[in-house]
Amino acid sequence: MSDRLEVFMFPCLSDNYGFLIHDPIEGLTATIDTPEVPVIEEALNQKGWALTHIINTHHHYDHAGGNLELKKKTNCKIIGPLADKDRIPGIDITIEHGEKFNFGSFDVQAFHTPGHTTGHMVYHFKSQNIAFVGDTIFVMGCGRLFEGTPEQMLKSLDLIMSWPDETLLYCAHEYTQSNAEFAITVDGKNKDLIKRKSEVESMREGSIPTVPTTLDLEKKTNPFLRSDDQEIRLELGMLESTRTEVFAEIRNRKDQF
Ligand SMILES: [Zn+2]
Repeated sequence: MSDRLEVFMFPCLSDNYGFLIHDPIEGLTATIDTPEVPVIEEALNQKGWALTHIINTHHHYDHAGGNLELKKKTNCKIIGPLADKDRIPGIDITIEHGEKFNFGSFDVQAFHTPGHTTGHMVYHFKSQNIAFVGDTIFVMGCGRLFEGTPEQMLKSLDLIMSWPDETLLYCAHEYTQSNAEFAITVDGKNKDLIKRKSEVESMREGSIPTVPTTLDLEKKTNPFLRSDDQEIRLELGMLESTRTEVFAEIRNRKDQF
């Protein structure tokens, strides 16, 4: 018996990741979001785990689309952001910003991270140095601003940046290669980024997932976390701009990339 939270990650749909988390002590198993029911069921079978919970990050179909089917089949409980209670199918337990709850023997803290959607939430297992960040932060990228403002998203990313550097971030999509190609256009002199870009290219050639990442690596290579970096500001001609303005410009350029 391990006292670690077990995490099992697997690809879903075209570029999503599915995650099962398992508490070996109390025998609980949750899926973080429900991108693709048959693949989640196969993962459960493979591990021999019975689904007890769904923990949702946000309402998008590739995150909550399998909620009702899995709930019907397993009678699991669905946990999700209060702000999205009318958009997350089958939600049973609503969570607010900063709220702590237990997943079996593990403490989790939920944080509201608006930007990608207004209700988006991330889940931090502090004692495990693990976080499930949905579509808020990606490897060398961040979520598109479908519903929120640059100011909101920057605040959400700042919140994530306040966690310990060694925190493992489980992002919900494999967008890394295209994110790296974009990042180099705004931060081309960054040696850590140049090195990482070639590393992820060879990983992807071998179909190796680039998720999870660490906060430390993201601080060094993710342009969306580096809006105060002088080289990036120089490249954008925005030396005197606010962090929000720089962030908004990077997001805007990525949207057109
Ligand atoms: Zn989304």
